[in-house]
Amino acid sequence: HFADLGDSCSLMKILNEVKPDEVYNLGAQSHVKVSFDVPEYTSDVVALGSLRLLEAIRHAGIDCRYYQASSSEMFGSAAPAQSELTPFQPRSPYACAKVYGHNITVNYRESYGMHASSGILFNHESPRRGETFVTRKITRAVARPKRGPKWTLRLGNLDAKRDWGYAPDYVEAMWRMLQQDSPGDYVIGTGESHTVRQFVERAFELVNLDWRDYVAIDPRYFRPAEVDHLEADASKARRALGWTAKVTFPELVRLMVAAD
Ligand code: GDP
Repeated sequence: HFADLGDSCSLMKILNEVKPDEVYNLGAQSHVKVSFDVPEYTSDVVALGSLRLLEAIRHAGIDCRYYQASSSEMFGSAAPAQSELTPFQPRSPYACAKVYGHNITVNYRESYGMHASSGILFNHESPRRGETFVTRKITRAVARPKRGPKWTLRLGNLDAKRDWGYAPDYVEAMWRMLQQDSPGDYVIGTGESHTVRQFVERAFELVNLDWRDYVAIDPRYFRPAEVDHLEADASKARRALGWTAKVTFPELVRLMVAAD
C-alpha cells in the first residue's frame, strides 16, 4: 500500500481499504539538522501529517487505536531527567513540529474520545539506523573493512548527551501502549545518558583504535541550536506498562559495530 502524510486522500483511501485495528504514526522527516534546512517541509509532514492521519481515522468511522511517535527532542533545553510532566522547550523545527503532533494527539483523545497514545521516545538505535545519525555514522566508520591507514571521521558536537537505547525494546513499548484499556502519554528511555564522545570512545575501543588519531571536529555538523542533555525518567512506563529497556549502552555500541 502507498500513501503519503502530505496527502489526506491517500490516507483516507488506505484506512478504508485496510481497516486497521492499530495505526502507528512513525512517519517523519526525522533528522534534526536537516529540519533547519527544510523547516517548512519538516513541519508539514511531522505536524500537519499527524493531524491529517488523526482526522482521516476520525472520518473513516473505524474503531482503531492510534500511536503517535513523539520525541525526546520536544524537551530541548529542559533540565534532565525529563518525564511526562516536564514542559517542552523545543530547539529545532523538527522538535517544534513534534510538539504540535503531540498536542494534537492529546486534543483528539480529549475531544473525540479516540484511543490515541503518545510515546515520547528517547533516541533509539539499531543497525538499521540511518547513516547520517551520529551513532550509525560512528559505527559504520570504525567497521569499514577496506579503509587505508589514514582516514578521518568528521563529527560535530561531542559534548551532547543522549539517552540511547535499542530500537526493538522501544517498539515493544509502543505496542504495549496500544494494548492498555485507556490511552495515555509515556516517556520511554533507559534512564542513563552518555556523551557523543563516550559513544566514540567505546566504538573505537572495540576495534582497538585510539579515536583521537581519527576524529576531527567539523563545524559543518554543529546545529544552530543544540540540545545538550536528554535523559529519560521512564518511571511511569515501568509502573503502568511493566516496561524497562533491556539492552545497555555498551551492548548497544557493540551490536551496532558488529553488524556494520
Ligand atoms: P538527534 O538527537 O535526534 O539529533 O540524533 P543525532 O544522532 O542526529 O544527533 C545526536 C547528537 O550528536 C546531537 O547532539 C548532535 O549535535 C551530535 N553530533 C555530533 N556530531 C554529529 C554528526 O556528525 N552527525 C550527527 N547527526 N550528529 C552529531
